[in-house]
Amino acid sequence: MRSRRRILTGDRTTGKLHLGHYVGSLKSRVELQDEYETFILLADVQALTTHFEEPELINSSILDVTMDNLSVGLDPEKVTFVQQSQITSIAELTVFYSMIVSVNQLRHNPTIKTEAANYGYEDLSYGFLGYPVSQTADISFINADLVPVGEDQVPHIELSRKIIRKFNKLYGTNITVPRAKLSEVGRLAGLDGNAKMGKSMGNAIYLSDSPEVVWQHVRKAVTDTSRVHAHMEGHPEVCNVYKYHQVFNPGETDEIHKECTSAALSCFACKQRLNEVLNNLLEPMRERRAYYENNIDIVKDLIHEGSKKANAIGNENLERIKEKMHILI
Ligand code: ATP
Ligand code: MG
Repeated sequence: MRSRRRILTGDRTTGKLHLGHYVGSLKSRVELQDEYETFILLADVQALTTHFEEPELINSSILDVTMDNLSVGLDPEKVTFVQQSQITSIAELTVFYSMIVSVNQLRHNPTIKTEAANYGYEDLSYGFLGYPVSQTADISFINADLVPVGEDQVPHIELSRKIIRKFNKLYGTNITVPRAKLSEVGRLAGLDGNAKMGKSMGNAIYLSDSPEVVWQHVRKAVTDTSRVHAHMEGHPEVCNVYKYHQVFNPGETDEIHKECTSAALSCFACKQRLNEVLNNLLEPMRERRAYYENNIDIVKDLIHEGSKKANAIGNENLERIKEKMHILI
């Protein structure tokens, strides 16, 4: 029996992580790392579903994503970093699960549909369509109990639960049926007024961005467009900067609301306040990241050692699964 329940979470290695990732998942990873045995997947195979023409980006992102996770305060003594492409049991489970999931189940998955539309795909690749299948393999190769996710991932976890239940019933295996843990904040909007901060939207504030770059984003943020003079009263409910204060500066939102609606606080001053809050959050992350950037071999070792450990667990689990499937002779 293992002593603690397990979390499997992770990121596709398609670039550096931003504030949306932080509020959507990284923050809760840090909070849960003591309670759960945590595995952080560096999803380089899933990166290929959309970025198969950019192997260099995927390669550098394996290190960047690991450093981003370390920079927010994940403790390398507590969490295990796992490079997906190095885990043979994930690849094998993906094949086994793919036999019992129907193409229609995948085609009707709302996240697949939205993402396919975002990327402009009309004829989906087999791998892209099968994303939730390989995600099921990611979760179950170590029998993870809990999967912290953003709302867009909920349909995937629902499908994972169905696949695993069906598989267990068919073969008498005892693979853990995982639960999704939704992040509290949900989706972080862009300061530019876009409904989402995203890498491909050009509105991302990366965790590794310098104070100058952060200020460029904050300075240009779209506020209440009807407030054309600082002496006019503002409408916080339509303001992107106010939304950010609510997420990153909850202690001051009442005061800011009051000062904005009474025109005591200009948009510029309000942005300066947000800028300070964001930089206070990011500064310790920049410091931790600088340490790892200067000691990149430590980062590589963490990935190698973590993947080795995860492979051992996965291989043992897979051996039992294959036995139950009667494919060992
Ligand atoms: P892209 O624009 O290339 O799709 P992205 O910025 O959306 O990139 P992804 O790697 O697609 O980044 O995101 C991975 C996961 O991170 C998402 O499934 C989602 O759960 C979470 N996430 C991304 N952006 C945000 C955001 N703005 N707010 C909350 N969570 C987010
Ligand atoms: Mg995305």
